[in-house]
Amino acid sequence: MTKEWLGGTTIFAEMSALAARTGAINLGQGFPDTDGPESVREAAVRALRDGRGNQYPPGPGVPELRTAVADHQRLRYGLTYDPDTEVLVTAGATEAIAATLLALTGPGDEVIALEPYYDSYAACIGMAGATRVPVTLRPHDGAYHLDLDELRDAVTDRTRLLLLNTPHNPTGTVLSPAELAAIAELAVERDLLVVTDEVYEHLVLDGEHVPIATLPGMRERTLTISSGGKTFSFTGWKVGWVTGPPALVTAVRSAKQFLTYVSSGPFQYAIAEALRLPQSYFDDLRADLRAKRDLLCTGLAAAGFQVYRPAGTYFVTTDIRPLGETDGFAFCRALPERCGVVAVPNAVFYDHQKEGAPFVRFAFCKRTDVLQEATDRLRGLTGLGGGTAGARPY
Ligand code: GLN
Repeated sequence: MTKEWLGGTTIFAEMSALAARTGAINLGQGFPDTDGPESVREAAVRALRDGRGNQYPPGPGVPELRTAVADHQRLRYGLTYDPDTEVLVTAGATEAIAATLLALTGPGDEVIALEPYYDSYAACIGMAGATRVPVTLRPHDGAYHLDLDELRDAVTDRTRLLLLNTPHNPTGTVLSPAELAAIAELAVERDLLVVTDEVYEHLVLDGEHVPIATLPGMRERTLTISSGGKTFSFTGWKVGWVTGPPALVTAVRSAKQFLTYVSSGPFQYAIAEALRLPQSYFDDLRADLRAKRDLLCTGLAAAGFQVYRPAGTYFVTTDIRPLGETDGFAFCRALPERCGVVAVPNAVFYDHQKEGAPFVRFAFCKRTDVLQEATDRLRGLTGLGGGTAGARPY
């Protein structure tokens, strides 16, 4: 087995280090530059002071959070889960992904994932000893699309599960109801498990989030993963969860207990409260991010990028070819020097690296003045053709 993840550094760590070293504006790693609600932070402080979660919490997660997750799924999506047997709390969505793949896949199994894909998918499929089978989302008509024929063709007798992500990082694509229905039909027909990473469920900026578990025949074959990091702007707390039928959740719990056993004690109580915030919180989050998306997309287009306007997440993918550039890696490594901005090359999210070469991702979960300054700096790039003229001090 090749352990291709060994010795490497994630692109997010590399680019955040580059931002720190150069003082450039960091639109690379996706983390907000403003913390989430004060009431949620206070809930964590209260839990710490009251001694809730300071010692090992229960393996599956504290009951308050498991119940809050179950209520969230029921009230928002009409999905009913038993908090005791169908909800598992994890160390962020990252551990949920790892434990799921370790529990459910192994050598000889194929895992179909939508490419470009979040970096931990490839690493965890590799750690499980399974084989990844990418199905590539391709841009046309201003957005990324899934080729359903390609997805169907990718399924073999060895396919163990489909690993979905909607809203999708890095492209910002939200799978349409028709795409979800076709995927669900395929999963039922070929008797596949579906693992769906929905960490951006509250960051759907156009339309509404539809969990694939709500589609006919899907609840019993789907594990849904989410986390509090993006929804509540506390990415450092690492509180995630999995919901699904008891046998699958039990399998994931078995793997999870040997990864961290438990994590995030007091933060679990705080996220339980956060999940019960009034609807206005979720509406405001989306309205704020919509405005920031529009600001960054407009600025990037004015700077000469081709912009794929995201329907969800807080990332925008761009094509750098209109700037006379073709290599996203080289572009991102030079960008801080050229104009004081950090972005992420999408090629790292591809097996077919050539497919991803000219695409670059920018994050817009930043203060408006920061995004404004970043777009001003990027505008200095127009027409440079690889030179450094126009770079500004930072
Ligand atoms: N999910 C974040 C991103 O895509 C980064 C998380 C990480 O650093 N591993 O930018």
